[in-house]
Amino acid sequence: GGGGPVDFVRAKIRDDLAAGRFDRVQTRFPPEPNGYLHIGHAKAVALNHALAREFDGEFNLRFDDTNPETEETEYAAAIEADLAWLGCPPPGPAKYASDYFEQIYAWAEHLIERGVAYVDDQDHDTISAQRGGYGRPGIESPFRNRPVVENLDLFRRMRAGEFADGARVLRAKIDMQHENMQLRDPVLYRIRRATHLRTGNDWVIYPTYDWAHGQSDAIEGVTHSLCTLEFSDHRPLYDWFLDQLPLPRDRPEQTEFARLELTHTVTSKRKLRELVTDGQLDGWDDPRMPTLRGLRRRGYPPEAILAFVDHIGVARTNSVVEIELLESFVRTALNRAALRRMAVLRPLKLTITNWAEGDGVTVEAINNPEDLTAGTRRVPFGADLWIEADDFMLEPAPKYYRLAPGREVRLRAGYYVTATDVATDSAGAVTEVFCTYDPASAGGSTPDGRKVRSTIHWVSAATAIGGTVHLYDRLFTDPWPGADGRDPLESLNPASRETLTGVRLEPILAEVTPGEVVQFERLGYFAADLDDPTVFHRTVGLRDEWAN
Ligand code: ATP
Ligand code: MG
Ligand code: MG
Repeated sequence: GGGGPVDFVRAKIRDDLAAGRFDRVQTRFPPEPNGYLHIGHAKAVALNHALAREFDGEFNLRFDDTNPETEETEYAAAIEADLAWLGCPPPGPAKYASDYFEQIYAWAEHLIERGVAYVDDQDHDTISAQRGGYGRPGIESPFRNRPVVENLDLFRRMRAGEFADGARVLRAKIDMQHENMQLRDPVLYRIRRATHLRTGNDWVIYPTYDWAHGQSDAIEGVTHSLCTLEFSDHRPLYDWFLDQLPLPRDRPEQTEFARLELTHTVTSKRKLRELVTDGQLDGWDDPRMPTLRGLRRRGYPPEAILAFVDHIGVARTNSVVEIELLESFVRTALNRAALRRMAVLRPLKLTITNWAEGDGVTVEAINNPEDLTAGTRRVPFGADLWIEADDFMLEPAPKYYRLAPGREVRLRAGYYVTATDVATDSAGAVTEVFCTYDPASAGGSTPDGRKVRSTIHWVSAATAIGGTVHLYDRLFTDPWPGADGRDPLESLNPASRETLTGVRLEPILAEVTPGEVVQFERLGYFAADLDDPTVFHRTVGLRDEWAN
C-alpha cells in the first residue's frame, strides 16, 4: 500500500512495513468530547483516515473521555456527525477510552505490584511545585517509597470512594530528576466525583490523558498513533508505560506532526468556547467560527477542506498557513459546482423609460459557465429593475466604467441600457436612475458590434423576492491573534459581520435548498442558511469581486 505523496509520516510507515516492525497499519482519531471539531482537527482526521486507506489498514474513532467534568454526549454526537459530513467517517462504531477503564485500572495495579507506581497523599499544588523545572531539581514526595501492599490498599480504597476528591493521586515512580518533566513521576489517577457521560457514577477515580492514551491505543491494536508536536515530550512516557505492561500485540508507536494553524484564526477550543459563551458569536456553528459546523454553515464544501489539508501536507515543524490559501480551495470547488444567480444587495431603482415589450418578458441566463450540463434558466426582465447602488455614479471617478449619466452598460444576460436621468432625494442622493434600452442588444451584443466597458447584474422589481445577506470579514484583525502572549480575543474584529436586509433576489432563489451554495454574480459565493434559506451567508468573495 501507500500511494500518496511521500511525507515523513508515510515514509516512516513504509519503513516500518519494510523492516517488519509492523505487518499492518491501524490509525485512530482521538478527540476529547468537550467541544466541536475545528479546521485543525480536520487535518488530523483526514491524515489518519487517508493513511488507513492508502495502506489497506484500519481507522477508528476513539473518544478520549477521561475528564468527566468537561465532556458531554452532545459533543460526542456532534463529532460523529462532523466526521460523516467531512467524508471521513469511521467504518465501525465509535470507541471510548472509558470502555477500557477496567483494563487500565488493572494495569495500574500491575504497575503498583511492580513497584513503579505509588499513592501520593499530597495535593495538586504541592505535587506540581515539587516537580521543579528545567534546570531546577525535582523534590521526591515523602510518600514515594510506600510499600507495595500499602499502595495497593490505598489505591483500591481510592477506587472504592473512601477519600475526598483531590485527597490522593496515583503516580508513576520514574525519575524526579529527569530532564523531561513528563517523566518526573506523572499522575496516573485522580479522585473526581463527577458523573461521566458513559460510566455515570461507576468510578470516582479517572485516568489521566497520558495514562489512558497509549494503553487505549494498545488495546485497540493501533500501530501508528499520530498526534501533534506539543506531545513530543510525552513520547518517552508513552513508551515507558507500554514497557511496563504485558501486552498481547505489537506495541503502538507515537509520531508527532505539525498542528494546522491559520492566520486570522484561533483553533484553541478554550478560546472558541469563550467566544460562544461571551455571546460574541451566535454559537459553535456561527459562520465565522473555524469549527467544521461553522464552516459548513458558511458554505465550505467538505471536499475543499480535504483538498486543502492534503495540499498543505504533514511536516515536522509548525507553521502558520495563510487563510487565503484555504479560501482559494473553497473558491475552486465552488467555481466548478455553484449555480450562478443574480442578487442585488444594496438596491437602487433603475427604470427603462422606452420599454415597449410589456410584462412577462424573460431572458435566458447560463447557470454555470464551468459546467454546461447545468443548463440555462429564464430570468424575468422588465421596465422596473433593481441594480446595485454602487454600480451607478452621478459623477464617475477616474477608471469607474460602470453606469453614469450618458453612459451605456450591459445588463447581464439582458440588454444594453444608457442612463439618461436621475431622481434624487432632498439630500441630493440618487434614488432612481432612468435609462433607455436598445431593443437590438438582446443576448448581450448589438448588430453594429459596439462595445460597452461594463456588465452589471440586476433583478426585475416585479418578480424579485426579498432576502437577507450576511457579509463576513476576518474574525480577528491580527494575522497572528495571540502572538506576543496577548489574549487573542483582544484582536477580535468588531465588524466581522455586516447584515443586509432588504436584499433583492431573482425569483428562482426561492428554490434553493438549505445549505446550498450559489454564486451571486459579481458578488461572491453565498450559502443558503441551514435553517432559513432566505438568509444567505457569504462563503467567500470572487477573486476579482469588484472588477468591471
Ligand atoms: P484543544 O487544544 O483546542 O482543546 P485538542 O488538541 O485538545 O484541542 P482533541 O480533541 O484532543 O483537541 O484533538 C483530537 C486530535 O486532533 C488530537 O490528536 C490532536 O492532536 C488533533 N488536533 C487538534 N488540534 C489540531 C490542529 N490545530 N492541527 C492538527 N491536529 C490537531
Ligand atoms: Mg486533547
Ligand atoms: Mg490540546
